Amino acid sequence: MTNPKKKIFVTQPTLPPLDEFIPYLEKIWENKILTNDGPFHKQLEEELCNYLGVKHISLFCNGTVALITALQALKITGEVITTPYSFVATTHALWWNNIKPVFVDIEPDYFTLDPSKIEAAITPNTTAILPVHVYGNPCNVEAIQKIADTYHLKVIYDACHTFGVNMKDIPILNFGDLSVMSFHATKVFNTFEGGAIVCHDETMKKRIDNLKNFGFAGETTVVAPGINAKMNEVQAAMGLLQLKTIDASIEKRKHIAELYRKELSGINGIRFLEDIKDVKHCYSYFPILIDKEKHGASRDGVYETLKGNNIHGRRYFYPLISQFPTYKGLESAQAGKMPIAEKVTEEVICLPIYPELEVESIMNICELIQKNN
Ligand SMILES: *Cc1c(COP(=O)(O)O)cnc(C)c1O
Repeated sequence: MTNPKKKIFVTQPTLPPLDEFIPYLEKIWENKILTNDGPFHKQLEEELCNYLGVKHISLFCNGTVALITALQALKITGEVITTPYSFVATTHALWWNNIKPVFVDIEPDYFTLDPSKIEAAITPNTTAILPVHVYGNPCNVEAIQKIADTYHLKVIYDACHTFGVNMKDIPILNFGDLSVMSFHATKVFNTFEGGAIVCHDETMKKRIDNLKNFGFAGETTVVAPGINAKMNEVQAAMGLLQLKTIDASIEKRKHIAELYRKELSGINGIRFLEDIKDVKHCYSYFPILIDKEKHGASRDGVYETLKGNNIHGRRYFYPLISQFPTYKGLESAQAGKMPIAEKVTEEVICLPIYPELEVESIMNICELIQKNN
């Protein structure tokens, strides 16, 4: 038996053995280069480009500042169309740039921004679209690009839930003008805190690298009002170690997802997401939807039952970003405007998923959900 007193959270960070980390620290102490594009930073950018199959990547101190900087790099102003169904940082990044968020509903199958509803939200002030590959499930990138091309809009993907996700062998990070990643402790790939912007050409890479370092383009040249958003050498070293085990980590997550699906498939009123054909997933989250009528218990009922048994699922994403005080006054945020998102946010709960999660715990979680109905 797993210890029933042991708390199980929605995720647990993947850490390399400590003795493998020490030599990296020794190197840093020896070099005395702690940050500012140091040797581990350079190496991690190279290795990530190779692993992810992208041309250019700029490392950041976290995903939120990377999002804020991505909007600066493309000089986005006015209004940006985005999803209410994400982590709050997606919209905060707009707010920090003095940009008005315009929320558009999600599609019902995988909860990404619904392209068929974007055009109606475009105004003369719209400059960009900020969709999210939520739970690592790819947005409808082709439909979104078509709209962007028609209306001359930029596309910035919040790719904070994805790592190594491919569609028909094409990295999802290669769509849009820029993609932003997070390497926070809770993500599939972590550098304690960290993030990145993926871009497709050298000039943009240079611009982003200047912006993350106060706008410096040389010892005495400042080309833009940049910020300090650099990743340090300890973070980069962690990233290099994470890369050694990332394939095994994702494989373990995949097995957990498969076991959940097998165990939950017979339970009334529980819906989960299947893998998408031709997509290589990263299994960053395992969301389920609870239909109260069919299941008997509500989402919050299930959430509390699990919590009472030391299992801490998370209601990602509840409330919707558009329901937080900062944003709820916006016209696009009004109740009834986004029926799919408004329904999903009331039904969703993300179950624990991380490489070290034990089979017994998964069985226990599924049993608790079964018993609850
Ligand atoms: C984690 C996350 C962020 C923020 O990333 P940090 O590295 O924590 O700043 C932004 N958007 C989404 C969708 C996220 O999940």
